[in-house]
Amino acid sequence: MSSPHHIDIRVTPEIAHQPERLKASLAEYIGISAEELSEFKIIKRSIDARARQIKYQLRIAYFLRDESVIWPSQQPKEYQQVTDQDPKVLVVGSGPAGLFAALKLLEEGLKPIVIERGKDVRSRRRDLAKINKEHLVNPESNYCFGEGGAGTYSDGKLYTRSGHKKTIEGILQTFVEHCANEDILVDAHPHIGTNKLPAIITNMRQKIIDFGGEVHFETKLTDFIIEKNVLQGIEINNEKIIYAEACILATGHSARDIFYALHQKHVKLEFKTFAMGVRVEHPQALIDKIQYKTPARGEYLPPSAYSLVEQVDNKGVYSFCMCPGGIIAPCATSKGEVVTNGWSPSKRNNPYANSGIVVTIDDEELHDYQHFGPLRGLKFQEDIEKKCWRLAGETQNVPAQRLQDFIAKRKSKSIPKNSYQPGTTSVEMDLIFPKAMTNRLRQGFKKFTEKMKGFDHPDAVILAPESRTSSPVRIPRLDDTLEHPELSGLFPCGEGAGYAGGIVSAAIDGERCALAVKQAITKTT
Ligand SMILES: Cc1cc2nc3c(=O)[nH]c(=O)nc-3n(C[C@H](O)[C@H](O)[C@H](O)COP(=O)(O)OP(=O)(O)OC[C@H]3O[C@@H](n4cnc5c(N)ncnc54)[C@H](O)[C@@H]3O)c2cc1C
Repeated sequence: MSSPHHIDIRVTPEIAHQPERLKASLAEYIGISAEELSEFKIIKRSIDARARQIKYQLRIAYFLRDESVIWPSQQPKEYQQVTDQDPKVLVVGSGPAGLFAALKLLEEGLKPIVIERGKDVRSRRRDLAKINKEHLVNPESNYCFGEGGAGTYSDGKLYTRSGHKKTIEGILQTFVEHCANEDILVDAHPHIGTNKLPAIITNMRQKIIDFGGEVHFETKLTDFIIEKNVLQGIEINNEKIIYAEACILATGHSARDIFYALHQKHVKLEFKTFAMGVRVEHPQALIDKIQYKTPARGEYLPPSAYSLVEQVDNKGVYSFCMCPGGIIAPCATSKGEVVTNGWSPSKRNNPYANSGIVVTIDDEELHDYQHFGPLRGLKFQEDIEKKCWRLAGETQNVPAQRLQDFIAKRKSKSIPKNSYQPGTTSVEMDLIFPKAMTNRLRQGFKKFTEKMKGFDHPDAVILAPESRTSSPVRIPRLDDTLEHPELSGLFPCGEGAGYAGGIVSAAIDGERCALAVKQAITKTT
């Protein structure tokens, strides 16, 4: 039996998109005629835009004529059929951490009971329309809460710097098993897109139910039932108690009520440094021009992205969650606050490019908040979101300023057309953030403009706040068992607990917690 050969080649975007021309180039690279090639597949793809002539860097697997063609295939995950006789594990939250935890529990023969405060993906869409068109925020169903969690209506970028290559591949493979396009296994910077994610999430939910797990929507954890430092169960919707052998708490960083409830019960929490800033938006064509160094992108290159990082006053200023061809979304989870974030459809074909530009927030920023103890970052975040709401007119309009005006410290006379649907109000960013923070943002933007000439284009606009990039609280857990150090039975998980910063890292953490629960249950039986 033969396995494929591999080769790395660099070709123009035109050739990368035309199979016959690619085959000819591949043969030339190998040093054979095209007829001697049998089959080939691109297995890794990235774009190198550093030189004037942009190239695709491809890793190709191929077979030669006369070789038997057997493509290696990934074994699909095997889930066990579970029943009420199997140990039950509560999974609170159906974001990537909760969903991947539930699927892993099924692989391990444990019964997941997933509870989710929000609605299923389809019903959730109606609440998103209400935020965009009527400025009405449903505190249980919005861009952050509901089936699939905060990542459902996102760009669906699937790359992370944390985790082993094999673990990340396993997560991507699970997305593919639930009908994501196989391109995500090939691209160096894979993404799915808002229009494709809901169907994938629905397939995951169906898998959990088909194998005996449970998924309950509009079911909110409202209290923790604790006896002698052991979590016995949880109260849901202020009325019913569910008991279970273990609880994976994957409620995300926007579930402030969960942090308050734990704090009130004297469950140990820790302050965590986090990041905050603004969302910047440019015409996509401008970013393409800067990044690809050509007047127009043409038909073979994707809308370009960027990733920027600088140090100002020894602290990081960086771009975060860049969405080419994207939309800026209203991501508040309560009345009386505004929050921005970004998403893109799978084709990234909107005329704007947006990105969070954030600075690190640590205790230096939080002098006035020390009395809130471990919740000081959360309180600061809440206050900024409320202030933005007030300054922009007490609707879902957000404060906005032309980037050039922000750099020059003047109020914008007008705000350019942008993708944020509810609307914008001209507000100086200096009125929103503490002085040192505003200064770091301003210096950061100046440095970015030195790197990317034209970044401060007259139509570049910044919207505030970009405040939910990472959790300002950590729910501690033991390194080996992943259980809370003072409350057994509680497994803090995902972004909200401070162990992830995106879809893939949250999914990885979900799987880890499921395995930790399995180990804990095996030990006690
Ligand atoms: C608009 C937007 C775009 C984004 N784009 C990207 C991207 O392209 N790539 C990327 O990697 N990341 C992106 N992110 C971030 C990413 O979505 C999060 O990092 C990820 O979803 C965190 O996963 P999680 O499962 O830990 O938490 P979450 O996804 O926040 O899920 C938590 C879930 O818990 C539920 N919940 C909360 N409280 C309760 C309760 N009391 N009872 C029951 N259920 C509860 C919530 O409703 C929610 O569904 C984006 C986020 C947003 C908002």
